[in-house]
Amino acid sequence: MILGLLKEYGNETRVALLPEIVKTFTDLKVNVLVEQGAGKTAFAEDADYIAVGAKVVSRANVLEQAEVLLQIQPPAGGDIQKIKETQVWISAFNPLSGTELVKTFLENGVTTFSLDLIPRTSRAQSMDILSSMATVSGYMAVLDAAMKLPTFFPMFMTAAGTIRPANVLILGAGVAGLQAIATSRKLGAQVQVFDVRSEVKEQVMSLGGKFVEVEGATEDKAAGGYAVEQTEEFKLKQQQAINDHAAKANVVICTAQIPGRKAPLLIPKEAVAAMKPGSVIIDLAASSGGNCEITKNDETVVYNGVTVVGQSNYPAQMPVDASRMFGKNVLNFMKLIIGEEGVLNLNFEDDIVKGTCITNKGEIYNERVKSVMNK
Ligand code: NAD
Repeated sequence: MILGLLKEYGNETRVALLPEIVKTFTDLKVNVLVEQGAGKTAFAEDADYIAVGAKVVSRANVLEQAEVLLQIQPPAGGDIQKIKETQVWISAFNPLSGTELVKTFLENGVTTFSLDLIPRTSRAQSMDILSSMATVSGYMAVLDAAMKLPTFFPMFMTAAGTIRPANVLILGAGVAGLQAIATSRKLGAQVQVFDVRSEVKEQVMSLGGKFVEVEGATEDKAAGGYAVEQTEEFKLKQQQAINDHAAKANVVICTAQIPGRKAPLLIPKEAVAAMKPGSVIIDLAASSGGNCEITKNDETVVYNGVTVVGQSNYPAQMPVDASRMFGKNVLNFMKLIIGEEGVLNLNFEDDIVKGTCITNKGEIYNERVKSVMNK
């Protein structure tokens, strides 16, 4: 197999494979072509890739010669027109919302895999880029909030008096939320947490957070561990409880999401207005509409003295470890499609390969994408 590693677009600083992971591919007899400068912003030089057996070439050469093309972002610009039916495209392209891209891939006949749709099963855990990137985001969200907050996170007893610890409110205790709890606690804050899935209560408590219970949440075992839409009655009750806690919080970290839907609105404008000036809201759900009404995706706005950060790519602010985790996930996934002597072997009998495949020879493979496209 010839694997082509592409440089990311725009402000993205990560790279899908660091040289240390490329080495494992070359050991597996995969030929790796790397686009010039692909790892630069993640502190990996072209020479580092060459040292582990890769060839460094231009983007045009990678796009022309590689059998399998790999980058983190979806293809943009004219790239999509250059990908041929005989090639395989692997990235995270959010096909549940990016249906136009799926249509183009269907027309081109290209075989595509979207890493954000790797099934969330125990066997696929080591390939789960969503968990890896959520870990980075949860951690970075807390550090960013701590830097923007005009007060300390920990309690201090000093000769100049006692400083009270910060109150952090976390909405959603999935992967990012749990990491945000752990990081806030390490920095000495008091942490309160809301989630609609009661099973996370113990996890929240084991990390030192306080789980705020609102009775009457709808849970669905068939949702595969994810949250589902809530009743209007529950939403009202939860809203009142969140408003009360937000008014006392110094920091709110929003992570609540429902797969394939707009993020639930949990902090309306009035709740922001009732918060203390100087408080900080970090909205990790910004790209799917945000949990806070004031949030603007990829922007920071100040409303009544409250700083609201809509940052949807914190991993790009930690390019080395974010790339390291992403690359390890990709390697574990690609081991399923690398056969003897490094040849490409697409085994669609494997549930992970089939579940992650979006299009193949003009057909949609992923069932969730199929149902979205048929709507
Ligand atoms: P997510 O990003 O979809 O959502 C984040 C959190 O927001 C979830 O905990 C959800 O319950 C919560 N939420 C949604 N609506 C809410 C509301 N109205 N109010 C409060 N909270 C709300 O979730 P995620 O972090 O991607 O993962 C969720 C779960 O998926 C995990 O906890 C785990 O059970 C499962 N998971 C499994 C694997 C695996 O087996 N490979 C990997 C990762 C996650």
